Amino acid sequence: MRENAEELAQLECANVGKPIGSARGEIGYAARVLDYYAGLTSTARGETVGLSGGLGLTLRESLGVCGLIVPWNFPLVITLWKLAPALAMGNTAVIKPAEWTPLTVLRLAELAKDILPEGVLNVVTGTGAEAGAALVAHPGVRKISFTGSTTTGRAIMASAAQTVKRVSLELGGKSASIVFADADLDKAAGSVMSVFDNTGQDCCARSRYLVEKSIYADFVERFVENSKKLIVGDPLAEGTDLGPLVAAAHRERVHGFVERAGIKPLIGGEKLDGPGCFYAPTVFTGIAPDAELAQAEVFGPVVTILPFSDEAEAIALANSTLYGLSGSLWTTDAARAMRVARAVRTGALSVNSSSSVHLELPFGGYGQSGLGRELGPQALDAYSEIKSVYWAE
Ligand code: NAD
Repeated sequence: MRENAEELAQLECANVGKPIGSARGEIGYAARVLDYYAGLTSTARGETVGLSGGLGLTLRESLGVCGLIVPWNFPLVITLWKLAPALAMGNTAVIKPAEWTPLTVLRLAELAKDILPEGVLNVVTGTGAEAGAALVAHPGVRKISFTGSTTTGRAIMASAAQTVKRVSLELGGKSASIVFADADLDKAAGSVMSVFDNTGQDCCARSRYLVEKSIYADFVERFVENSKKLIVGDPLAEGTDLGPLVAAAHRERVHGFVERAGIKPLIGGEKLDGPGCFYAPTVFTGIAPDAELAQAEVFGPVVTILPFSDEAEAIALANSTLYGLSGSLWTTDAARAMRVARAVRTGALSVNSSSSVHLELPFGGYGQSGLGRELGPQALDAYSEIKSVYWAE
């Protein structure tokens, strides 16, 4: 992957329409995922347990064939989150890329052809309804690791029940960024890419900002100013912040959320001209906390800023959706940071930062954001069985 990094980055750019700088970063990161799990293979071992009359052993064994179903927003990175621990635990894999974005995964399979034994890494392209569903239903597949929408995740879980497959689900999100009055306001209001990165097509997008009332007006003004500076344009041009949305149908879906809001955003809310499905960064205020725009995953460059009065209300608002995937909180009060971090029901939280996913830490959702964890050493458990052996003295 490193030898072919620029080619893979250009392909990912063409695949999704993401800025070339982001695509380069993702290829480097995907290669690091392989390094990490290659290193962990020597630590994944069983235990010996002293028992009355004998000895207990646990043996870690591979599962067999793992079906890896991947979405279109981070095609190669998310493939590697699944493929690297699956291979590290001695499994084989059938990868089903999203129908819009098969290019980089197909190239990866070509590159791996002379490295892995035949049949270890396989790619099946096709639609979710046909190729994806067949993989989930197949009795020879022992595990499905799926990343995608919550709706599809529910269908996969139901289908996998027929063959009692192991299932990991990484689903949607509606993550909150909570800004307290004592926060470093420059940093908090500067974190616009926490929602606009990848043109908002990010499961961890902080699509709800919850801001303490005493700084609300000031925060909104700064956030809007910072959002106006973003460059929307050609993904191949260095310096572009937001490329187009992935497809025309997806842009219509995003625009539908904006139209149904029934009020005008402070900025954006419109399709932009150009040779792709460009959409303006969009900032809303005045949306009710239980309105669609504050509850549903838009998966586009659209953010809602809501006010709160105190810590209890901030926590209640943060926990008021079906989801619980990611989030941020901004405060200079360490005790408050700890209290709020414990109280927010989400799988990954950043304090005074908008970073989301760390290779060394487990990542996954609470609530309807998913089931199980990827990344970190925990991912190895998701790709292995533990056998107990009792050895009588
Ligand atoms: P999607 O659910 O439409 O599709 C994801 C994948 O599942 C695709 O490969 C698709 O072909 C396949 N698929 C669709 N129907 C299927 C079925 N019935 N059986 C088997 N496979 C099927 O999602 P999408 O639009 O490609 O991706 C966007 C969604 O993914 C968003 O909701 C986003 O939040 C989520 N996502 C989650 C994470 C995470 O880590 N939690 C990361 C990225 C994206």
